[in-house]
Amino acid sequence: MNNLENIVSLCKRRGFIFPGSDVYGGMAGTWDFGPLGVMLKRNIMNEWWKYFVDSRDNMYGIDAAILMNPRTWVASGHTATFADPLVECKECKSRFRADKIANGISESVTTEEFLATHTKCPVCGKENWGPIRKFNMMFKTHVGAVDDDTSVAYLRPETAQGIFTNYKNVIDTIYPNLPFGLAQQGKAFRNEISPRDFILRDRECGQMEIEYFIAPNAWEENFEKLLSDNHYFLEEIMGLPKEKLHDYEVPEQDRAHYSKRTVDLMFDYPNGEEELMGLAYRTDFDLQNIARESGKSMEYRDKVTNETFVPHVIEPSIGVERLFLAVLSSAYTEEDTDGDKRIVLKLPENLAPYKFCVSPLLKNKPELVAKAKEVYDQLRAKYTFVTWDDSGNIGKRYRKQDEIGTPKCIVIDFDTLEDDTVTVRDRDTTEQIRVSIAEL
Ligand SMILES: [Zn+2]
Repeated sequence: MNNLENIVSLCKRRGFIFPGSDVYGGMAGTWDFGPLGVMLKRNIMNEWWKYFVDSRDNMYGIDAAILMNPRTWVASGHTATFADPLVECKECKSRFRADKIANGISESVTTEEFLATHTKCPVCGKENWGPIRKFNMMFKTHVGAVDDDTSVAYLRPETAQGIFTNYKNVIDTIYPNLPFGLAQQGKAFRNEISPRDFILRDRECGQMEIEYFIAPNAWEENFEKLLSDNHYFLEEIMGLPKEKLHDYEVPEQDRAHYSKRTVDLMFDYPNGEEELMGLAYRTDFDLQNIARESGKSMEYRDKVTNETFVPHVIEPSIGVERLFLAVLSSAYTEEDTDGDKRIVLKLPENLAPYKFCVSPLLKNKPELVAKAKEVYDQLRAKYTFVTWDDSGNIGKRYRKQDEIGTPKCIVIDFDTLEDDTVTVRDRDTTEQIRVSIAEL
């Protein structure tokens, strides 16, 4: 079954993802990537960068600091409005997000509205609530040696503002033509009241965002282009099944007030449909906020017409962990082979941590081991991501490589010593063919 528990179990068993600070009993809402997880995550992030940045003439990278001047979050509205409705049970002191434990209410629920739902405490079952409080989700810290209000800073709640605040530096230094995009990958932090669903709702997450600066009258065609490019990336490069992806046109009353169009790309996760990424037309909202807060002009001068205006922005934003889980859950397969269960990660080859596994048929035959090492070294020089396995029997090795998604296993046997051919076993079909070493 492709359920979340099976995937979490595989992740731990094979070294993809461990609970954060596991040795100390964990830390809620944090997860650590292990050796295999790092390889898969980097492949995902590198493919994104390659497709959206390196292969385009008008995309540029940014890598901004996680700690930013607190005025950033006043200008962006996060200080005032990046908040969830928090409610406390007076009986057992448990705290919850009100809109997550009661049905049919929104994030802007009032105390009266919440009490009218007669929700019982999920922990103790009583109905004795305190008032709804707005709980700001930014992580607060202090910068420097002074521990008072003057030194407060926040871990960034989104990477986008690190791009917007560098817009002026970029146009003043490389003066790109419109439309152009600034892309960033990095960590963002949200103090979720109740983190859950494995890596879907964690307190620390990777984001990959682009702010695409355009002339205001060109927003519709650019929006459509970015939407179809993102579908291409998710379906063709990440290998997500088309039928699991759904465009959700966010209705006007649910959009941010400045946005003229927002599409959420939803994905069928093992636990149900959830947002995978968002594409939002943000108009000139962010640059105008920065202009007001900083007193600096955010205008762009068109090189041909000499006209000046503040560019509008379209923002594709995707969470690394959300994409990682979409890739994993699409690849996770259980097959029944003669009453025996085979678990296999059918990852696209470009994402698989290892491309090949090389092993000698028997590890106690020095001539086989030596020949296998030779093949291993040759493939390693050519493909880099090649692993060696001489543990257990061949069946066990295949089983392990299937679970970590290695597309091809290569076995060196006694025939190899005679004719320089090897057995190549395919992960998805389990078919085995004989191939000469020179053809690998
Ligand atoms: Zn309670």
